[in-house]
Amino acid sequence: MVNNKKIIIGNWKMNLNMQESSLYLHQLSKMVKTHRDVEVVIAPTTLTLQSLSLQVNLRQFKLASQNFYWRDQGSYTGEVSATQLRGIVQYGLVGHSERRHIFGETDKDILSKVAAAIRNHIRPILCIGETAWERSNGETYDIIHDQLIGGLANITSDELSQVVIAYEPVWAVGTGQNAVPTYVSAAVSAIRSQIEQLYGKVASQSIQVLYGGSVTADSAADYLNLPGVDGLLIGGASLNAYSFNEIIKKAHKDGSIMAEKD
Ligand code: PEP
Repeated sequence: MVNNKKIIIGNWKMNLNMQESSLYLHQLSKMVKTHRDVEVVIAPTTLTLQSLSLQVNLRQFKLASQNFYWRDQGSYTGEVSATQLRGIVQYGLVGHSERRHIFGETDKDILSKVAAAIRNHIRPILCIGETAWERSNGETYDIIHDQLIGGLANITSDELSQVVIAYEPVWAVGTGQNAVPTYVSAAVSAIRSQIEQLYGKVASQSIQVLYGGSVTADSAADYLNLPGVDGLLIGGASLNAYSFNEIIKKAHKDGSIMAEKD
C-alpha cells in the first residue's frame, strides 16, 4: 500500500433531519481528534449536505454524497447531479448495495456515476460486493470481477487515482452478520489483482480499498489490521458518536494529532 492514510466513512443513510444532522455533526466535532493518518468522511442525507458544508471543518471531516445522478443538468425531476454537488462534497458513494438492490442501479448507471464524479472533482467510492445467494453459489470473485470491470470501464489510469473501492458483501451490510477477516482479506486481494490486471502493479498497490459490513467499535480493528485494507465504510455504528469515535481512534496509528493551527 503506497497511500497509508486510512479512510473512515460514516454513512448516515436516510436518518437525521436538518437540525439533528447539524447537532450530531457538532457533537462529533467535539469528540473526534484530527489525525494526519486518518481521513474521516461523513455521508449524510442529500438534503443536509449544503448546510453541513458550511458548518463542517474540512480539516476534521470531509463530506460525501450517498448518491447523485450521472447527468450534469437537465430535465431529470427529483435528481441531484454531481455538478450541483461539486464544491459541497469531496467524495461520493457510487453503487452502494442499497442503490443496486433496492433501486435497481445497473453497472451501466454506476459506470456513468463514477465518470460524473471524476469530471466534477468528486472522489467516487465504488461499492462492490456479492449477495448471500452469490456467495453460496461460489460467485464472490466473479462478482468482484464483474463489478470492477463494470464500474471502471473507460476510467483512465490517471482517473483511477481518484477512485476508492469499498468491498461490502451485501449479506453483511446492515445485517449484523460479520464477514470473517480471512474472507475479507481474500476478497481484497482479489480486488487488487483485478486492478493489477487492468491498470498495473503500481495502481493495484496504491488504490485505496475499504471494507464495510456491520463493522462495530469491537470489530473495527480486526479489519483495519488486515494488510491491504485502507479503511472502513460504517453504516449503523456511525450513528452513535461514541462508537464512531472509537472506530476512528482504532484507525489512528502513529500518534500524529494535527496541531490546531495546521
Ligand atoms: C453501509 O451503509 O455501507 C454499511 C456498511 O452499513 P452497516 O455498517 O450498518 O452494515
